[in-house]
Amino acid sequence: MDKPDVGELKPPERVLMGPGPSNANPRVLSAMHTTIVGHLDPSFMDVMDEVQDLLRYTFRTENEWTLPVSGTGSASMEAAFSNLVEPGDTVLVPDNGYFGDRMAKMSRRAGGEVSRVAAPWGEPLDRADFEEALTEVQPDVVGLVHAETSTGVLQSDLPELVDLAHSHDSYVIVDAVTSLAGVPVKVDEWNIDACYSAAQKCISCPPGASPLTLSDRAMDKILSRDTEPRCWYLDLKELETYWGSDRSYHHTAPVTNIFGLREALRVIAEEGIENAWERHHRVSGAFRDGLEEMGLEMNSSDDAWLPTLNAVRVPEGVTDDTILRRLVEEYNIEVSAGLGALEGEIVRIGCMGHSARPQNVLYLANALGDILEDEGVDVDAGAGVAAVSEGLQD
Ligand SMILES: *Cc1c(COP(=O)(O)O)cnc(C)c1O
Repeated sequence: MDKPDVGELKPPERVLMGPGPSNANPRVLSAMHTTIVGHLDPSFMDVMDEVQDLLRYTFRTENEWTLPVSGTGSASMEAAFSNLVEPGDTVLVPDNGYFGDRMAKMSRRAGGEVSRVAAPWGEPLDRADFEEALTEVQPDVVGLVHAETSTGVLQSDLPELVDLAHSHDSYVIVDAVTSLAGVPVKVDEWNIDACYSAAQKCISCPPGASPLTLSDRAMDKILSRDTEPRCWYLDLKELETYWGSDRSYHHTAPVTNIFGLREALRVIAEEGIENAWERHHRVSGAFRDGLEEMGLEMNSSDDAWLPTLNAVRVPEGVTDDTILRRLVEEYNIEVSAGLGALEGEIVRIGCMGHSARPQNVLYLANALGDILEDEGVDVDAGAGVAAVSEGLQD
């Protein structure tokens, strides 16, 4: 084997406005290159406590079982599904976006019998349809996606859906990957049984350690399972030996990611979680209004608008490929294409965490306006940019 000719790593400095990762606050990156300690180091025990407290603050919960799962958002997602779903359990999950599909796949692998409640991609679940599905399926476990990153849709009546599911004695798992720290998520007030997220979206930390919280009720179901979860690495009963009071080895914690997460959550707590929600709403709202003023169309209706991800219809006269390529090559901005049923139809523009700042949305609105005008698309770039700027003054 020849020695590979690999040079020094020089990643480009992108403005990350896609569906994640978002840009990390420089404080977070600094925390990650401090040093390494062992995962059982006495100093690390304090870090673990602090991270768990900060996660409880961010999730708005007193839940004892609140921890960062090693891995990306899909790891905390799989921890929730593979522990709560037992073989033979009936499971109801959404069919209106990419991540509902993933819930179905994970539930099946956990041995669940999966049913779906559908809505068109780009619309939230309809409450009457959901209620009908609950009555028909009588699910043991229900999965709900709070913020569907593939379609830019916020399930804004989530608390009502959770209550409905509870009236059928179901356990509710909520995907808050693109909502946590970006829009209000209130685990205790909304009685959510299990809620998971990721580090690299609105928490603005490099991917690798993913928030998860479980209610006492969910914990009881897991502790009284007849069978062991099929996955050893994400077995919460085992993980609890490390993140709970024992603090004994299960697997080596990704200490550097935990350092980063601690700092990212500290940044959020300093700002105040309510202020973080308000900032996403204000900055992303100004951006959305500007795009509409420019002549572009949003994919979701106003009441399902997701501040952390603006899904914009690709206008006549240009392709999503051209928009994405020119934004990266000429402006160093990353946004993303549509997935699944919306491939080629939309461009997904994230507005998350440290990326959700006035200068970023202004820069992106300018760049997008220039590209579209240059491609001959019928838009009024100047009016759009002016509207973003004006919206940011409010
Ligand atoms: C990003 C995302 C995930 C998966 O997270 P990864 O970090 O990519 O594993 C799950 N659900 C939603 C809604 C997401 O946006």
